[in-house]
Amino acid sequence: MNTYRGRFAPSPSGPLHFGSLIAALGSWLDARHHKGKWFVRIEDIDPPREIAGAADNILATLENFGLIWDGQVTYQSENQHHYQQVLLQLFDEQEVYRCTCTRKQIQSSNGIYTNFCRDKQHSSKTDHSLRLKIHQPVTSFEDCYHGHYNTALHSASEDFIVKRKDGFYAYMLAVVVDDIEQQITHVIRGADLLETTSQQLYLFKLLKYSLPIFGHLPVATNNQGLKLSKQNYAPSIADAPVNETLWLALNFLKQSPPIELRKENTSLLLDWATQHWQPNKFKGKQQFLHQYV
Ligand code: GLU
Ligand code: ZN
Repeated sequence: MNTYRGRFAPSPSGPLHFGSLIAALGSWLDARHHKGKWFVRIEDIDPPREIAGAADNILATLENFGLIWDGQVTYQSENQHHYQQVLLQLFDEQEVYRCTCTRKQIQSSNGIYTNFCRDKQHSSKTDHSLRLKIHQPVTSFEDCYHGHYNTALHSASEDFIVKRKDGFYAYMLAVVVDDIEQQITHVIRGADLLETTSQQLYLFKLLKYSLPIFGHLPVATNNQGLKLSKQNYAPSIADAPVNETLWLALNFLKQSPPIELRKENTSLLLDWATQHWQPNKFKGKQQFLHQYV
């Protein structure tokens, strides 16, 4: 029986751009190549960063690009009771504590939070975030594209935030709770998230879930070497020519699609790419690549 369950988990902070297409396409191809399932989860629990209409726009673009998902799209905003339940449990078990440190205080210690509030027992009345105690940090893991990956010790061992001071659940908590709930077996996403993986693995272990396989795809940058993102005005691909853009994305992933397929229809191109999916071609140490388009 095939148990592969992958996912694409965009935050609706803007339309899809070439960089987010790489994460969508890479995770879709890996799932389809393994005849697995592929789910889409909208990570909409950070309202200050969200843009009205972005989630629908992302979904319409995925469909347009032929990246069709299985089952229903899920929305993190609809699963907040679950995050709260996990937090309460971890709080009861004294794995989570209140932290009142300000950004300024943390910046003054080189931006590194040194687990300062761990034993302070702050009252619930003061403004606070909630942090998870990291007892035995996960300092390395096997990535299917990067091999044995060592995480910087200070980030692996930092008691990270699971609920923010402004009351929103942190990405780090929600992403793990959802990957568990959806029984995700393969997390294929951009290498900008490599550094966070050790912390997420810690939480998977604490919640006693069998660990998914992680693979981090190369991240597209602009010609100044900066990751394509809304902040640096990466253009939307919502209206880009579908087949041409997919062909370029496959090239970016070093899949060498035949030139004849550049002007063909999308399903032919995606079928070719599914059959010939070879992560070996981009495997290695390169985390960031200029997109050359
Ligand atoms: N929502 C995250 C983002 O858009 C991705 C989460 C993940 O793939 O683990 O950056
Ligand atoms: Zn603190």
